[in-house]
Amino acid sequence: MQNIDAFKQLLSSPKKIVLTVHLNPDADALGSALGFAGVLSKKNHQVSVVSPNAYPDFLKWMKGNEEVKIFDKEKEVCEKLLQEAEIIFSIDYSSLKRVGDIQPLIEKSEATKVIIDHHIEPEEYADFMKWSTKAGATAELVFDLLGEMGWDNMLDQDMGECLYAGIMTDTGGFKHPNTTQHIHEIVAKLIGIGVDASRVSKWVYDSNSVNRIKLLGFALSKRLNVLSEYKVAYIYLSKKDLANHNAQKGDTEGLVNYALSIKGIVMAALFTEKEDMVKMSFRSIGSFSVNDFARKNFDGGGHMNAAGGICKEMSLKEVVKKFEQLLPQYKTELNKAL
Ligand code: 5GP
Ligand code: MN
Repeated sequence: MQNIDAFKQLLSSPKKIVLTVHLNPDADALGSALGFAGVLSKKNHQVSVVSPNAYPDFLKWMKGNEEVKIFDKEKEVCEKLLQEAEIIFSIDYSSLKRVGDIQPLIEKSEATKVIIDHHIEPEEYADFMKWSTKAGATAELVFDLLGEMGWDNMLDQDMGECLYAGIMTDTGGFKHPNTTQHIHEIVAKLIGIGVDASRVSKWVYDSNSVNRIKLLGFALSKRLNVLSEYKVAYIYLSKKDLANHNAQKGDTEGLVNYALSIKGIVMAALFTEKEDMVKMSFRSIGSFSVNDFARKNFDGGGHMNAAGGICKEMSLKEVVKKFEQLLPQYKTELNKAL
């Protein structure tokens, strides 16, 4: 962090702090927020974590989870916390539209704003930033920031497991190109303070319901389309498909990776029909930027090889059609990506 001394000064006396995460928080957003919140609490700050909406059950083992406030369920409590906050953190996002209905409260607030994030093109609303697109996970930046603060010995096993979950998932289980020596060094230190990598993996990846596994089977056998000409594979799920499998929040997470795992595929997409929108997940390998693709065509964004977007104006069918119709113009780029 550039002005680390001023940041240290800011946190040298107890403050009212709210850590916010992006819509549909994932393990990195929630784990980074709860891990950092744990340390801040130990330093006698009054800390709350506020999420715009609910998150999947497979994240609910995290220490501090019970105290996370969900904005769309407890609006008044959250508004009060944000209005009274002296410091507001943006964890794992740096574009205010990613916090949904919390956005106006952050914009209005006179609190000191801090971004800890690894997404590209951050907005300029923060007083302090721990930001790098080189970081594989926001949890990595939290760990590094604790080091800069001289607080690395403050982490305990529970907080460490929150950070570990963020690193594990954002690196795709240490498979993506963002899996660096530095990340492994951090993980080694986390294991050193008692983090049990195996049980975190079990909690996050191997806690499936039978319905979820059946939904996976259905999606792969009935809703997968492979367009070899473009090196593209996509899956789509309608509201009815989801209801038929009694799908719960988070049940489609990771599904897009099955499409990407097909040999020769460069870009994979998942289209999920929600109540009032179509949610899109894009993944790629090599030089094909799904961030550019999502930004340009679907008002979304993310990272080079993992991005997302939403569409409120079109039906699932129309979104999929638009996607297919876009492919010819990307054919050359898709074919030279590997
Ligand atoms: P996922 O497909 O797992 O939901 O998201 C993959 C990546 O894309 C995440 O890093 C997330 O930050 C980003 N992302 C997902 N949805 C959106 C969106 O609607 N807008 C933007 N700007 N980024 C998104
Ligand atoms: Mn992240």
